[in-house]
Amino acid sequence: MDNAWENFLEAIAALMSKALTDKETENVIAGFNNFQQRLQRLSSHNLQRLNLEITQSAKTAKKCKHDGKTCTQNVTRGFLKTWVVAYLIKYAIGVLPSLLKGKVFKNPSILKKSGGSDTIGFAFFLSSFLSAYKLVLCAMRKIRPDHDGDRLNAFVAGSVAGLTLALDKNKSRRTALTLYLFTRSIQFASSYAMKRWAEHRQAKNASNRQSLRDDEKSHDSQALVTKNRWDDILAKIMTSSAATVVMSLTAAVNIYSCVVEPDAMPRSYYNFIMQHSGLPQKFGPMFPPLVETFQSQFNLLKDGPGGFDNIGIPEGVTSHDFIAKNISPNIATLFPPGIHHDYQCCALLHPLYGCKRHAVDTFTGEFGRALKMYGTLNAIVMMVFQHKKIVSDPVKSVKHYVKSTIRSCFFLACYVLACFYIPCLSRRILGRESNINYILNGLVAGTAVLIEAPGRQMELALYCLPRALETSWKLLMKRGLVRNIKNGDIALFSASMGVLMTLYQNEPSVINKHYLTVLTRIFGRN
Ligand SMILES: [Zn+2]
Ligand SMILES: [Zn+2]
Repeated sequence: MDNAWENFLEAIAALMSKALTDKETENVIAGFNNFQQRLQRLSSHNLQRLNLEITQSAKTAKKCKHDGKTCTQNVTRGFLKTWVVAYLIKYAIGVLPSLLKGKVFKNPSILKKSGGSDTIGFAFFLSSFLSAYKLVLCAMRKIRPDHDGDRLNAFVAGSVAGLTLALDKNKSRRTALTLYLFTRSIQFASSYAMKRWAEHRQAKNASNRQSLRDDEKSHDSQALVTKNRWDDILAKIMTSSAATVVMSLTAAVNIYSCVVEPDAMPRSYYNFIMQHSGLPQKFGPMFPPLVETFQSQFNLLKDGPGGFDNIGIPEGVTSHDFIAKNISPNIATLFPPGIHHDYQCCALLHPLYGCKRHAVDTFTGEFGRALKMYGTLNAIVMMVFQHKKIVSDPVKSVKHYVKSTIRSCFFLACYVLACFYIPCLSRRILGRESNINYILNGLVAGTAVLIEAPGRQMELALYCLPRALETSWKLLMKRGLVRNIKNGDIALFSASMGVLMTLYQNEPSVINKHYLTVLTRIFGRN
């Protein structure tokens, strides 16, 4: 459970940014929030013009934006503060679980251990990272005074600052941070590309309209019609389906690996998913041997000839008797007497119930677990980030809380249901055991994301993406298709930070509000 925090990287970053911010930064954030609201009230045409003007003015501003601070002050001021904040938060996260479980009182050395070299190192990495970014950015502006805009400056500053990742000696944390920021840089770079594409299409449409108007003058009867062009339609489809596609692909990779090749999956994530399957809780110490038995039997049947005679359990034979005689007498003890499964893999995946009862049990069980998780998480998020709203309009806040919690639980329960129940159906249809069963269920499960609020769909997909990337990499590595490069994580982190900071410094409009706020709180105006 040591790495459980990696599953909540985002919440931690938001929390940390809250602690790092100061009054000036909050003013900046309030400023761009107001500004965005104002923008939303304007028509799309005006909006475009304004956006263009902002981008223009940002391009010509090459001076430092840290008002009231010299470059040196800007670099040094945050160093100690960041160190302290990062240290305290990391310490709290390390101590909190054992504090809540009461372990601290039996074993007070946890308090000391959590504050040790790992925490010091992490805090040092984070403060060096921020200072290095500011230092290189200001230096670049001095070196290249004649260059308009900040693109290259920010890219170099971000990449150089990214090298400080080498200061963090915790391998799994380095991987988690790298994959997380890599995912974000892809996300924001994609929205930048989509934005540029939209601008390009709009310019083209405008010139088309103009030529239509010119035509009209000569022919006078034609009305002004501008149809949706194919690229507009394509852009619309891409935008609306992106989250579902990413979610389905990540689910397919993660679930496949979880069932068929668990060794290719980060351990902490495997445990996290397993907790949600509800299986470890049901079988306790018998769970690992059950998983092992399932895997060896699955591999055996997969390579076999298929057909009900080979992968099924004959009618009239109880699953207990069949498993005891053909697979493992030890595992057979888990089966309630009298229960019959149609298929051997069904029996090993859900020993206690038949397929239908298993489906109902999975759904209700996951709904309960999700309720606990989302209930707590949403309550914390609401109290930390929306406490003003709770006071000003408590009824609306509670309604929103209940609605979004239930919606999320429904999503997660459907997702888990698809993961577990689809193989029961697909092995009947295919008539054999195959990896396809465990790729198909993920692909279907991913579509459950459509239940979630539209604003959260992409977020969820991107939450799963870093894990899927890591797992895919390991799956490819197992097959000898790719190789780990020494310090490859640092290189990837550097490149991601370069992209991210270029966009943050030059195209903040492509970064959505929540992240822009977090980034501004952490980096400030530079
Ligand atoms: Zn400066
Ligand atoms: Zn089944």
